[in-house]
Amino acid sequence: MRTPVPDHLDDVLRECGAGGAEGEVAAYIPELAEADPALFALALCTIDGTVYAAGDAQHRFTIQSISKPFAYALALADRGFETVAEHVGVEPSGDAFNEISLEASGRPRNAMINIGAITAHALVGDASTTGEQRVERVVRGLSAFAGRELEVDEAVCASELGTASRNMALAYMVHAQGKLEGEPHEAVEGYIRQCSLLVDVRDLAVMAMTLAAGGRNPVTGEQVVPAWVCRQVLSVMATCGMYDAAGDWMSTVGIPAKSGVAGGVLGALPGQVGIGAFSPPLDEFGNSVRAVRACERLSSDMGLHLMQAPEVAAHVLYGVVEPDRDGDGVREVALQGPMHFAAAEVALRELEDVPEDGAALVLDLTRVTSTNDVGRRMLREGVRRLELDGHEVRVEDPDGHLER
Ligand code: GLU
Repeated sequence: MRTPVPDHLDDVLRECGAGGAEGEVAAYIPELAEADPALFALALCTIDGTVYAAGDAQHRFTIQSISKPFAYALALADRGFETVAEHVGVEPSGDAFNEISLEASGRPRNAMINIGAITAHALVGDASTTGEQRVERVVRGLSAFAGRELEVDEAVCASELGTASRNMALAYMVHAQGKLEGEPHEAVEGYIRQCSLLVDVRDLAVMAMTLAAGGRNPVTGEQVVPAWVCRQVLSVMATCGMYDAAGDWMSTVGIPAKSGVAGGVLGALPGQVGIGAFSPPLDEFGNSVRAVRACERLSSDMGLHLMQAPEVAAHVLYGVVEPDRDGDGVREVALQGPMHFAAAEVALRELEDVPEDGAALVLDLTRVTSTNDVGRRMLREGVRRLELDGHEVRVEDPDGHLER
């Protein structure tokens, strides 16, 4: 048997590519205008590090704005939440990606638009880090997310540096507000090198899955950034990641994402999947027409919308065996599925119905598939309370859910 997932990706590419390449290839960075509008590729990375790819998956392109969430992640990991939050906000701007979007305090509105991304870049490392060391840290950090050594496209980098007046103006503006650390010129140069890193759709899918897996690269096993950083970054991507189409994207595709002007789109669905898509022609918002279409298809075909309510809490109880049933005087309560707040709440209500007859009780967690911190604490508390009620409790927990 061959898994049908690659065939499905081929179908998505064929159907979303039909009708030619609508949209315009970005031309404000001269070198990007040379891109072949016919290129189209798609990749998907799973939580265990399996990568599926289709189309022009070998083609490398510059990461551009898709680097922003990762530089923001490195800044958060290096400086901590408080310091980064003093310098850059988390609100959607409603402005174009290259606007002077500052809050009244002088803080850029978020790290997904240029003004906030340049500010976030300048926060990578510590206060004594030189511009060169910072670029080094960014290149190594993004490479760790991708699981391979990424390289700068020097031609695109030089081309963008030659037309960087607007980004320079943004950096000096934030600097004047006291929110940009170091020298503005150096921050823009570093940021442009960061945007010029070459990736393919597989890289994007692995980078996305690393964010979606709480910072652990599923291919290399490296913990690149702490889990709290990923939660922060994915939240900002969900509200600000797709330029001025973020709301439309969230309601149709429902996956935290970031796009870039070279035509890449990265989508990261927490705990489930990382997606990379690429096609150079862009729509009026600056998002790749066909990459967006492919993500819409994947999301609807595979039920990936984040706001799709999962069906779990209703089937928490696998079964109860009353003490007199098999004559051993022991009551057995078996739970199943993932144990988070909503599921554990149902389980505790079941346990509340256990009569105070002093019968011994077996809490069977054999069919529990996963637990989070809250689920664990709630079940432990349930056991403690049953014991206080005079029951002798034995927890059948072969996978050690309650011991974590
Ligand atoms: N390097 C590009 C710029 O700063 C990135 C823009 C983008 O991808 O949105 O203009």
